Amino acid sequence: MRPEILFPLFAPLTSLPGIGKRFSALLETAVGGPHVVDLLWHLPAGIVDRRLAPKIAEAPDDTLVTLTVRVDSHVAPKTKRQPYKVWASDETGRIGLVFFHARAEYLERTLPVGQIRVVSGKTERFGGELQMTHPDHIGTLEELERLRSVEPTYRLTGGLPQSTVQKALRAALERTPVLPEWHNGPLVAAQGWAPWRESLHAVHAPQSEADLSPTTAPRRRIAYDELLANQLALLLVRRRLRARTGRAVKGDGRLRGAVVANLPYGLTAAQKRALAEILADMERPHRMLRLLQGDVGSGKTIVALLAMLAAVESGAQAVLMVPTEILAQQHLRTITALAEPAGVRVGFLTGGGKAKVREETLQRIAAGDLDVVIGTHALFQDGVEFKNLAFAVVDEQHRFGVHQRLALTDQSAADVLVMSATPIPRTLTLTVYGDMDVSRLEEKPPGRRPVTTRALPNSRLDEVVAAVGRKVAAGERAYWVCPLVSESEVVDAAAAEERFAQLREQFGDSVGLAHGRQKASDRERVMRQFASGEISILVATTVIEVGVDVREASLMVIEHAERFGLAQLHQLRGRVGRGEVESSCLLLYAAPLGEGARARLTILRETDDGFRIAEEDLRLRGAGEILGVRQSGMPEFRVADLAAHQDLLLVARDDATAFLMQDPELKSARGAALRSLLYLFERDAATALIRSG
Ligand code: ADP
Ligand code: MG
Repeated sequence: MRPEILFPLFAPLTSLPGIGKRFSALLETAVGGPHVVDLLWHLPAGIVDRRLAPKIAEAPDDTLVTLTVRVDSHVAPKTKRQPYKVWASDETGRIGLVFFHARAEYLERTLPVGQIRVVSGKTERFGGELQMTHPDHIGTLEELERLRSVEPTYRLTGGLPQSTVQKALRAALERTPVLPEWHNGPLVAAQGWAPWRESLHAVHAPQSEADLSPTTAPRRRIAYDELLANQLALLLVRRRLRARTGRAVKGDGRLRGAVVANLPYGLTAAQKRALAEILADMERPHRMLRLLQGDVGSGKTIVALLAMLAAVESGAQAVLMVPTEILAQQHLRTITALAEPAGVRVGFLTGGGKAKVREETLQRIAAGDLDVVIGTHALFQDGVEFKNLAFAVVDEQHRFGVHQRLALTDQSAADVLVMSATPIPRTLTLTVYGDMDVSRLEEKPPGRRPVTTRALPNSRLDEVVAAVGRKVAAGERAYWVCPLVSESEVVDAAAAEERFAQLREQFGDSVGLAHGRQKASDRERVMRQFASGEISILVATTVIEVGVDVREASLMVIEHAERFGLAQLHQLRGRVGRGEVESSCLLLYAAPLGEGARARLTILRETDDGFRIAEEDLRLRGAGEILGVRQSGMPEFRVADLAAHQDLLLVARDDATAFLMQDPELKSARGAALRSLLYLFERDAATALIRSG
């Protein structure tokens, strides 16, 4: 149960002054949640300086000022078009306060004749007279101090007045309780951090532009609160998984030996190292949950296969789950060719295919007549019973989503190896996969030819088409990726269809089209035709991004490259340069390039190192955009900024680890404080694990 002291923070937004029916939905959208605490995490995006408080005669034109004035008279408009005017003055002069579409009753109440009032807003000169149209604030003399200040401003959703949000925030801040310190004393001292409540107040009271930077002490403190909650929650989940019984899987090496002996190449040092880590983990009696991370083409498949064979050697079964049928078939071909000669029985299970064949496969899986099974998510549907499953590999897992990942880890007691070609920066790995151990393939197999990358403006489209023609004439193949114009596959598909029609006029039947609006079976047929060489130009949307291996493809054209993220461009480029021929990637862009887009294209031309690209991507774009949040299951941070607070993330990881070793049940005073921290950042699920686990 949530600690009582936090109740005021989890009251609905409508409990705040000024937030009625009209604004609550808008505010909820702006702050990303329905509770008071969500508003508190909505940090200021700018400031407005209202400190200039001259006498009327000294007030400059077109300037933000806070004036203390006496209200002299009200002049109601004679026609609807005219504004309502209130005259006010001080000992140096007079000013007209101007209101369009005003309610006289309201103005008479807020600006009573004869009274002193404080008005803050922008001055202007009209017909020789100083005036202020719609002052931002009107208050009494007692409110002068508050009004004559630097005011934080917030990101809004349309129709929501800034002053409403500011007022609600002031009320929310007043409600914040004093909470016991959950951080460790030496850290707080070393960083010079104030307590949580004070830091939060400071964050919402910037005095200058510099105070808006994520690197100020109060911002770092709040960010660290959140990062620590994240790391603590992940560690608690992981401890829970680890506590479940696993099995020690150890093979005798005979199958691995046979397969390695037949490989046309030797394993790289990186592959050997990753494999050793995986095998050592499998031999331990707990359940393995490990991430194998490697750039496209780094050779993850063979590593996964050898680990699967270790399970088979031990007398058990292994599965490889991939997100699409075409990838499943690709893996089936590779793995069958490598493993069958050694006597390994390889099976295949996807959603498609004949019912009879499927039935037979299911029986062989249940009887233990298949050692290695490759397939799609169909592998984890009802009715699939393994005789003795000891090892599961999940490829390209960000396509699967968190739910399937949980389903997978919950259903079987098998060791799990997740493979990802998305070179997430180390820091993000921690936040997304914090519950996993990580093996990385940082080195690519030797002999790869670098892909020549060029950026060209759209106006040179003809040259690009000519380049495609040359490749095709030489018996090579080309991808043509169409612009990502919207969130909607419908619009993207239309752009791809148009380009397809054009290229088809030029190159005839050798052009195929693949996009997400097609039936999966149609799309996969086209991809197969491209893989087999029936067609040599594949026009596509980003559906081709994941894992397809066509060695003859030597040209990648990307239209409107400026609209793609760096990581995505890198993934796409990774589709070529897999064979012996010289490959290139042509990035077409619409001129003029924005600063960010220019930086992205430059980095891409400079390097082919997926991890470096990922780091740059993080730096350039901020974390949220790197992977679609929904796709990746990446936790969303409210205040932490992974580009600015990377150092803190590492500290949080170590801090959480060390703390849980001392106090695994969160029973100490700091433990109790940390529980409220988990609640504060809504990592409640993790607190449930403490009690039951
Ligand atoms: P990915 O990590 O993208 O899944 P793959 O496992 O598909 O990469 O490997 C890419 C290509 O590299 C494959 O054709 C594979 O046969 C080849 N390969 C893998 N390991 C090596 C190696 N050590 N030396 C040479 N080629 C290798
Ligand atoms: Mg792969």
